[in-house]
Amino acid sequence: MTVPHPATTRPRGGLALRLTEGLPDRLPRLQEIYQDLHRHPELAFQETRTAAIVAAELRALGWETTEGVGTTGVVGVLRSGAPGEGPVVLLRADMDGLPVTEATGLPYASTDTAVGRDGEPTPVMHACGHDLHVACLLGVVEQLARHRDAWRGTVVAVFQPAEETGEGAQAMTGDGFLDRFPRPDVCLGQHVGPFPVGMAVTRPGVIMSASSSHRVRLFGRGGHGSSPESAVDPVVMAAATVLRLRRSSPGRYPPRRRRCSPWARSTPVRPRTSSRTRPN
Ligand SMILES: [Zn+2]
Repeated sequence: MTVPHPATTRPRGGLALRLTEGLPDRLPRLQEIYQDLHRHPELAFQETRTAAIVAAELRALGWETTEGVGTTGVVGVLRSGAPGEGPVVLLRADMDGLPVTEATGLPYASTDTAVGRDGEPTPVMHACGHDLHVACLLGVVEQLARHRDAWRGTVVAVFQPAEETGEGAQAMTGDGFLDRFPRPDVCLGQHVGPFPVGMAVTRPGVIMSASSSHRVRLFGRGGHGSSPESAVDPVVMAAATVLRLRRSSPGRYPPRRRRCSPWARSTPVRPRTSSRTRPN
């Protein structure tokens, strides 16, 4: 049996108003959670503190809560209190911070450090806004729980680890996410962006960017510095390649234009020779 989505059977404004009822009173607490998360960022797959906060909130609001999905992921499931079926909607927030030193001067700035992938200690910062994503989704899960009779269907709230390394979603699906939880009809992600305060932006299709990495190795021909004409300097080749890539497909196009914007990471050029010779 197909039951129309509540949004099509009620005035849309009415549903939105019901779901946001009481929200202004809850904002101070959400802000507190946000500032606490901002103060204590955690690197990819180390989000144990964040996950514990999330899980405690979900449980207190009556969500079926599962921790440790794909290492540190948390999944909450809530079925509506209204009669009838409805779609399964997945809402996602990412949780990890970045190995970056915070220099914002904010009273709740991070001074935390963590051990990075290389085993070295590194400062950590929520420089991409995942603290805000978590706080926003916690606000949503609270509103959905408090107004369960205002909507129909099932909501799956996903708090995903390791977005910054591109591994978190795969880790969760690899941990049986699609079999263990209701399979979503719709997946909605979110990301903070440079828009005016209070504005939410959406569009059909791609809105954010995606990234992939390729390792490029350039081979030159070594030689002595006194006869550069007989050598092909790979350092010059690397520098020229970076500039050509940027010129042919500049990084100034926004992701929604669906084109490739190559970013050459400043991979250290390390010719292992003396100052008088040209490397290979
Ligand atoms: Zn991000």
